[in-house]
Amino acid sequence: MSVRVLTAPWVLPGAGAEPFRDGALALDGDRVVEVGPRAGVEARHGGAEPIDAVILPALVNAHLHLELCHLAGQVPGGGGLVPWIEALVAARFRGGDVEGAMARGAAMLRDAGVAAVGDVTNGLASGAHLAREGIAGTLFHEIYGFTAERAEASGRAAAEARRCAGPPGPGLRVAPSPHAVYSTHLPAVAGMLRAGPASIHLAEVPEEREFVAHARGPFADLVLRLGLEPGALRPFARSPVAAVEEWLGPETLVVHAVDLDGEDVAALRRSGATVVLCPRSNLHVSGRLPDLPRLLAAGIPLAVGTDSLASSPSLAPLEELAALHRAFPAVPAATIVALAWSGGAVGAPSVGRLAPGACPGVLAAPLDGARPADPFAWLLDGAASRPLRWLARHGPEVRA
Ligand SMILES: [Zn+2]
Repeated sequence: MSVRVLTAPWVLPGAGAEPFRDGALALDGDRVVEVGPRAGVEARHGGAEPIDAVILPALVNAHLHLELCHLAGQVPGGGGLVPWIEALVAARFRGGDVEGAMARGAAMLRDAGVAAVGDVTNGLASGAHLAREGIAGTLFHEIYGFTAERAEASGRAAAEARRCAGPPGPGLRVAPSPHAVYSTHLPAVAGMLRAGPASIHLAEVPEEREFVAHARGPFADLVLRLGLEPGALRPFARSPVAAVEEWLGPETLVVHAVDLDGEDVAALRRSGATVVLCPRSNLHVSGRLPDLPRLLAAGIPLAVGTDSLASSPSLAPLEELAALHRAFPAVPAATIVALAWSGGAVGAPSVGRLAPGACPGVLAAPLDGARPADPFAWLLDGAASRPLRWLARHGPEVRA
């Protein structure tokens, strides 16, 4: 075999591992052979080619909606979640170059160093665009309908769509998923969360709690406008998290988790679910951020997503994490960057760690002569302006 050996001022092995200053990486094609201090890697594999860059594993965008790329910049925020949803639905109804925008969005993901995604889709058309760019992960096939009849109809239509679409592409899987507790009939939510991998938007804004716990507020008005009988509107849980906690598990992605009380945090921790933070979307829609230090202190597994271009300026995980870094400067940058190495959360377990024998995808962030003391803070501080180069591509896990 011909092994390529690279050395760099910083090599970051990924989730849970300390960085190597003056580190080295041995690659056989796209496969990692060894990562470690330069001297040891060179002793085993020969002299290394120096590159002026930080070497790191490819990234995960654990929550986006590729099929909304054509709505970039078209859905104003600031008025809360219900006005944003209604503006989104109206903009989506007007249509646009949906396929062209998805193709450009998938290329943006590749350029942002993304090897795996959690992509929420109503129509499954995003899969072909992701597969073309070599991006793995999960298509969360979203179902909604607040009454039993509507949720059943939505579920039937989705099952038919999956039959017609066929296999989603290499490294991709499809997981039926509920949209949210204010939009999806609760027994249908339970069925999907219990069945295996799934994603749900949860506790995004306080209005969601007002609806679940008191059957009032903007979401109550919304479901009545959508045709729910007023007599059918009643409180159904203490909080959005409490409404679903018994069905959450290690394969669930809980997206947003901004409005949490102490009991919610404890329930999330017990469930083993991964919380996906989308701070720039939260800032756009409601102006509130998730409480990162509290979630970290509770030991809840975390990931990062950009949400869609209808509420976020880009699909780049590092730019999303830079927003958290600015908002929570006391949290170590290394802790924040690790949120983008959560391949296991989206069904792509090799993504996020330069493990020998795996093909996680490897990136180089050019240093241009800089020698940062903290490569993680340097990555986040320059996230918006720095191109990432692929040194090796991700090889999707083979699925049964
Ligand atoms: Zn979303």
